[in-house]
Amino acid sequence: MLPKFASVVARTKDEVLSWLSSLENPRILAGGTDLMVKMRAGQECSHIIDVAGVPELLGLTEKEGKIAIGSAMTHARLSTEDSLIRNARSLALACGLVGSPQIRNMGTIGGNLANASPAADSIPPMLIHDAVLILESRDTQRKVPLEEAIVAPYMTSMDRKELLSSVEITPLRGYREGYRRVAKRATWAISRLGVAFAIREEEGRFLDVKLAIGSCTPMPFRPKKVEDILRGAVRNETIISEAIRMALEEIKFISGIRPSFAYKLPVLKGILEEVLRG
Ligand SMILES: Cc1cc2nc3c(=O)[nH]c(=O)nc-3n(C[C@H](O)[C@H](O)[C@H](O)COP(=O)(O)OP(=O)(O)OC[C@H]3O[C@@H](n4cnc5c(N)ncnc54)[C@H](O)[C@@H]3O)c2cc1C
Repeated sequence: MLPKFASVVARTKDEVLSWLSSLENPRILAGGTDLMVKMRAGQECSHIIDVAGVPELLGLTEKEGKIAIGSAMTHARLSTEDSLIRNARSLALACGLVGSPQIRNMGTIGGNLANASPAADSIPPMLIHDAVLILESRDTQRKVPLEEAIVAPYMTSMDRKELLSSVEITPLRGYREGYRRVAKRATWAISRLGVAFAIREEEGRFLDVKLAIGSCTPMPFRPKKVEDILRGAVRNETIISEAIRMALEEIKFISGIRPSFAYKLPVLKGILEEVLRG
């Protein structure tokens, strides 16, 4: 049973911001695929504000070298967006792997980021694209890097009265980019492991390496020391083994030893070997 609440359907971003400011305990609803689960489990609110049809939260724009993604864009739409397939392939791939067709048709990128699950598929690709959240309230707008916005599992620094209106990402051109996911089943299953990567190489040398790993630590993260030792290095088995050793050590340092690591870490090692060997 759902707790009692009233609902309003917003037609414009101004309406959302005005209701967020005036209502006592509102909650934004985009696709509802996370929120409804939480409300069924007892999370209460006075009103839900449905933002799924707000035009300002839909669409993709390229401006000043960045791509701004409207927060109410669904995973289904993002997985087929030409501009993402060309400039942020890992994100398009990850969106295409979320849940199931029904979940991808309802679930939005804004909801995935605001929910901040350690297993959220969009977060590792967003991290390698240096995603920045555009957060708006009635009187203010602020930009917060995603890396700083997620402060704990399922927790962000967003205020309840703020709307995530869009996410800005940096396109990566000339990179070999992708997303690898391991789950119990191919579909309708939460990620047990997610790796986003973007690698630029020339004549057997790594020019730049961006990696982000999800579902192994409380928050998906970029192993920046690993990226640093690879940048500029000649690609060979010695440097690849050292990079992977460092990544696995960092995960154990952050999370401690977990029972699932007996399976996860060897699988992650295999994925990283494949990805780095090219
Ligand atoms: C069966 C099932 C399978 C799933 N599989 C996957 C999977 O494989 N991978 C994965 O990553 N996720 C998965 N999910 C989780 C979920 O579908 C995604 O996280 C989805 O992207 C959530 O988006 P939504 O629009 O439905 O969010 P909602 O449920 O509408 O909202 C989620 C939270 O974000 C807040 N919110 C939403 N939009 C905004 C906004 N614009 N500004 C501020 N706050 C906002 C809401 O208030 C709420 O707290 C699954 C869920 C289900 C039920």
